[in-house]
Amino acid sequence: MLFLDECFPEECYEFYCQGNPRSVSDVFKDKWADCLAEFMEQVGVKTKIVAPIVQMDDKNLPRVWGLLIVHSCAYYRQWQSNDAELLQSISNQLGIALKQSDLYSQLQTSEIRLRNSFENAVNGMAMLTMNGHFMQVNPALCQLLGYSKSDLLSLTIQDLIQPQELDRSRDSVQDLIRDQISSLQIESELLHQSGKTLWTICSASVVRNPEGEPLYFVVQVVDISERRALEQMKSEFISSVSHELRTPLTSIHGSLGLLVSGALDNQPETLKQMIEIAATESGRLVRLVNDILDLERLESNKITLHRQWCNAEALMQRVVDILRLTADDRDIRLIMTPTAQQVWADEDRIIQVLVNLVNNAIKFSSPGSTIELSVLPQHDNASLPSQSKQQDTHEHSLDGDSSSSLPILFQVKDNGKGIPADKLDIIFDQFQQIHGSDSREQGGAGLGLAICRNIVQQHGGNIWAESELGQGSTFYFTLPASESR
Ligand code: ADP
Repeated sequence: MLFLDECFPEECYEFYCQGNPRSVSDVFKDKWADCLAEFMEQVGVKTKIVAPIVQMDDKNLPRVWGLLIVHSCAYYRQWQSNDAELLQSISNQLGIALKQSDLYSQLQTSEIRLRNSFENAVNGMAMLTMNGHFMQVNPALCQLLGYSKSDLLSLTIQDLIQPQELDRSRDSVQDLIRDQISSLQIESELLHQSGKTLWTICSASVVRNPEGEPLYFVVQVVDISERRALEQMKSEFISSVSHELRTPLTSIHGSLGLLVSGALDNQPETLKQMIEIAATESGRLVRLVNDILDLERLESNKITLHRQWCNAEALMQRVVDILRLTADDRDIRLIMTPTAQQVWADEDRIIQVLVNLVNNAIKFSSPGSTIELSVLPQHDNASLPSQSKQQDTHEHSLDGDSSSSLPILFQVKDNGKGIPADKLDIIFDQFQQIHGSDSREQGGAGLGLAICRNIVQQHGGNIWAESELGQGSTFYFTLPASESR
């Protein structure tokens, strides 16, 4: 039965709080329970014995949790003092049981909370025996390492770390076990199930028993492969840039040094040559810095494309006009196939791509050869190279659209040096030059194709090359023909 606190006078509550049982020989004469008289009458109670169930609250003060009551209805019973004691001791046991059950459910809640945080943690987590066997692993760790939970539980951490890494961290792990340090963080390579390695930061601590003896390790694993790859890219980039900057700077420095020394004062021809070298090389520096900045802006999406409908033939004509003199100088013929094709693109950026491709074709072709620029009509599937055919099918099925959404294929074909098959992909990466000193002498730094790839990809297209060494190369790129891209 639910009793309201107000039922009890203060002194009655105090009496119960102290854990005192109470015998009432006539419930209708009970000075502390007027409000219960009606209920007693209904049930037909004559006498009763009451034992409080007392518990300590958060502040360790006694609190009446409830009352254990025995009613006598048949007759006015004379309660003995040991009746009250017996009932009180049952009440005390009940109090203990209730407290235990409270603690148990609190424990269960906190265990569920703990398990959920372990299971749903974004980072990989594990518990390891002191020998390194996995005892518990969370899904994030399984995913990170490519193992199922049961597979991982049959392994040890030693199976996943290279032996030299283990040696490197042995001392720190010993310090952790001996409680000389409270936690440990190591950057280490872990073996993925596929056989690849994975850069991670492993943070470990030790759980101990009350006597301080180590029980198991708790380990958190964070995947830092991406960060590592970025750091490596950054340092490669810095070394390539410094290298590229140093070459022209050394020439400029040398030429200017000679001029300043006055050694050429009486040799106007050589003096002029030195000035020309300084001018050419500083031009190369300016181009290099501009290319680096351009690439950076493209890669960080800081450039907005101003797309509009452009006539593909007009684009190619502009490129031919820009490069006609350069081509003439090397006795190379530029030809283009007429087309009525329209493309949805940023005109200046596509001209930049084509200029770079045609310029490369000029650089790596012999005098007397021809370079062809063309746009393949998109419905002429039979004439598309294999790669583009695949993309067409894919993109087309994605759109489920009419032929107007088929991409348009640009092509720049030369009969020059060609590119080895294994280099056809990497030439689109930064600072990749495969013709060594030849490429350098032509004034490039290996950024042009990286810029082209970026521009084409930002248009939603693809760029690639096909080539036969000694026979020539063809560079292709696709552009969407529809506004939706
Ligand atoms: P750059 O031309 O400034 O060196 P690119 O990124 O434009 O840089 O080109 C990278 C490299 O790809 C060139 O150095 C060259 O080795 C190779 N390459 C590009 N286009 C051609 C081509 N048409 N024929 C042969 N090799 C080429």
